[in-house]
Amino acid sequence: MLRSVILAAAGSSRLGRLVSGNSVSKGLAARFVAGDGVEDALTVARTLIDDGLTVTCQHLGAETTNAEQARAVRDEYVTLLGRLKGAGLTPATEVSIKLSALGQRFDDKLAYEYAESVCAAATEAGTAVTLDAEDHTTTDSTLEILAGLRKDHPETGAVLQAYLRRTEGDCRELAAAGSRVRLCKGAYAEPESVAYQSALDVDKSFVRCLNILMSGSGYPMVATHDPRLIAIAEDRARWFDRSAEEYEFQMLYGMRTEEQARLAAAGNVVRVYLPYGEQWYGYLMRRLAERPATAALLGRALATK
Ligand code: FAD
Repeated sequence: MLRSVILAAAGSSRLGRLVSGNSVSKGLAARFVAGDGVEDALTVARTLIDDGLTVTCQHLGAETTNAEQARAVRDEYVTLLGRLKGAGLTPATEVSIKLSALGQRFDDKLAYEYAESVCAAATEAGTAVTLDAEDHTTTDSTLEILAGLRKDHPETGAVLQAYLRRTEGDCRELAAAGSRVRLCKGAYAEPESVAYQSALDVDKSFVRCLNILMSGSGYPMVATHDPRLIAIAEDRARWFDRSAEEYEFQMLYGMRTEEQARLAAAGNVVRVYLPYGEQWYGYLMRRLAERPATAALLGRALATK
């Protein structure tokens, strides 16, 4: 219930303006977001890499509604990739991108064209792009765009969400040589017709998907903070005889940092998802929806301001 309320609030631009201008919420956002600009992303990425982690950088922005806005997002990523290369932060840093920011909602051909430019810039910088997964209405289009991009940029990564009923089938399609797949639970409010609703069903689906990816010949990227699923992933990696270079763990910046360090110290590749940008409100709200304890903290702080 609380989760759906917070997810609904994540889409409210009025509430967004109110929260974004508040110093308490800005302070909370700093725990999960590198900062407003590319320079902040570079600084934090360097610290994470020095700590033995790897990084995927994401520029936070609203869904775009016209070509000009989408082109600005493309340009932001091209600049970011050039700066990452110039700073010597590639290949340890890759980038994650939402196709909705490149225009997928109003022109999927344009989104493809812009994503292709970002992939070309990533190749030039010696790194790769992963296409974030958004709500289920975009899944078919995103997987089609991925297939097109992988022709020239086979290292382009996909994200599959275990809460979607279709995902086991998508895992089978993508568990092939050269394919990079991030498996996560899924962060959007989805209807029962397409998505498992109970935490237990989502977890069971996650494990079935993990089995498919770990037993396949692609590169699984296990994106979760859930201790039980992390332990199962470690177990499956042993069972399917995968070396540490043949899969990776991923977690969000600011979440379970001790666990990130523990996994890295044990020899695992651990990639930190590092968002930056001025439009952090929606991202922060999705994180709060996952952690009601943090949401309560923010609510109390705002109320006493
Ligand atoms: P949860 O279900 O949130 O938590 C399970 C258990 O883990 C909790 O009960 C608790 O015991 C423990 N736990 C979780 N967080 C913490 C914490 N901070 N401190 C201590 N214990 C904790 N979603 C998308 O829809 N599309 C994407 O493209 C996408 N990309 C992602 C990329 C990365 C790298 C990650 C990590 C997540 C991504 N997500 C994405 C979000 C994802 O779908 C989940 O919404 C989110 O990760 C929460 O699920 P969880 O598996 O981490 O565990």
